[in-house]
Amino acid sequence: MKLTLKLMFAIIALIIVMLGTDAVLSVQRESDFLQKELQNKAYRVGNAMKELVADAWRRQGPDVALALIQAANESETLTIIRWVWLDDASGDRFTPQAPVDRLKPVARGEVVAMHYQDRSGTSKLLTYIKVNVGQRPGALELAEPLNVVDSFVRISIYRKIALAAIVVGAILAVTLLLGIWLVGWPLKRLTDKARRVGAGELTGPIELRGRDELSELALTLNQMCERLAESQLRERKETEARIATIEQLRHADRLRTVGQLASGVAHELGTPLNVVTGRASLITSGRLNAEAIVESAGIIKSQAERMTNIIRKLLDFSRTGTSHRVQVDLMMIVRETSQILEPLSRKHGVELIVVDHPESQSACVDAGQIQQVLTNLIVNAIQATPESGRVTIDVTRERRQPPPTEGERVYERDVFCLSVTDTGHGIADDVRQRLFEPFVTTKDVGQGTGLGLSIAYGIVHEHGGWIEVESEVGHGSRFQVFLPTESESCPDES
Ligand code: ADP
Repeated sequence: MKLTLKLMFAIIALIIVMLGTDAVLSVQRESDFLQKELQNKAYRVGNAMKELVADAWRRQGPDVALALIQAANESETLTIIRWVWLDDASGDRFTPQAPVDRLKPVARGEVVAMHYQDRSGTSKLLTYIKVNVGQRPGALELAEPLNVVDSFVRISIYRKIALAAIVVGAILAVTLLLGIWLVGWPLKRLTDKARRVGAGELTGPIELRGRDELSELALTLNQMCERLAESQLRERKETEARIATIEQLRHADRLRTVGQLASGVAHELGTPLNVVTGRASLITSGRLNAEAIVESAGIIKSQAERMTNIIRKLLDFSRTGTSHRVQVDLMMIVRETSQILEPLSRKHGVELIVVDHPESQSACVDAGQIQQVLTNLIVNAIQATPESGRVTIDVTRERRQPPPTEGERVYERDVFCLSVTDTGHGIADDVRQRLFEPFVTTKDVGQGTGLGLSIAYGIVHEHGGWIEVESEVGHGSRFQVFLPTESESCPDES
């Protein structure tokens, strides 16, 4: 619309300038022409009368000649003819209206015409024609009022203005309609479409009829949207495939850990199974009285519950879960994970210590994923620690600065720190450099896949955190997982 208005005003300004120039020139021309006509008429009348007056003056005297002039005056409507003495500046009835010094050429026989404004402000065209009546220089003065010309010019100007107004109005209407139809409306649709594209809505192509630049632009915009939509779809599919692969890898990693835990769990189940078998044998022997049978059945029940608990935890850990973040107490995750790994650490003769904090350390995390991270770190620590060594797990709240990221300024912030410290053999420098890369392992075939730490890195990174490692060969290692304390709109644990 603004473009249409600008175009319209530019065209109108041009037309006004053109019409105005034409009006000024033609009014000027017409006014000049009219004045020339008046002058010619005065010249013709004056010349015709000159001889008559001179003849009457000579033959019948000045009175008859003056009466002749008077008679001519009565028959002329516009022109006033007077007799004047060219040397008379006294101001009486024969004094010329024009200053006498400007009339010297008339005395020499020339015809003089000039514009003159009398005392009342009326403009006149004065024409002087010499008449030979003796020694004294006399002449005919023909005065024609110029207001005829003025009113003609005024009417002409009014007509031009009216014409200009009609032309401008017509052009205004036509330009406005054409501008809205050809430019304003298509541009509005293009702008709306561009806005929708900006907001991420790529569907609904716009159709502009015709073959002008705007319809070409609409076509290009539609093609651009199609290509964008295609690449978005491709990207979405690729992302989905990538997420599915990551999920599969993570699940495979969990199953591997389950495999590592299985022997420990089997060992763990041994004791309750022995108790159950012993008590069941006692019952079936028939040697127990009713009270002892009830007591044995109670023991069998509690041992069965213990075994169910161990197996349930293992199954819980191995199941695939969709990412779901809620407010969870990190201490609770640590306790549950250490319970699952207890059999493995016992099998290795390693003491698993959880530093207990009574206060809750609530963070917005996916509990299953953080448990997987912890499990990978603790399993690695147990495997790296010799018999009678220690693996300590702790959760603290700290103020830390994240590692520098390219193009982003990092600030110190409050974070939770999940640390797993072992008294194991430590990590050699060459392994440490590539610790979080996939397939980096120092373990025997079948023991390690080299995926544990890279998966842990991915999960922690997705949670907006990071992992730091300290290690001294021969003395042990410490893995610290930092997780944000703050997160926007996180549902409570249900
Ligand atoms: P995997 O355990 O399958 O080898 P990870 O990615 O979990 O894969 O670990 C990669 C390697 O990092 C391990 O093979 C081991 O050499 C080293 N590592 C990890 N944690 C420790 C630790 N606590 N102490 C010593 N070495 C470790």
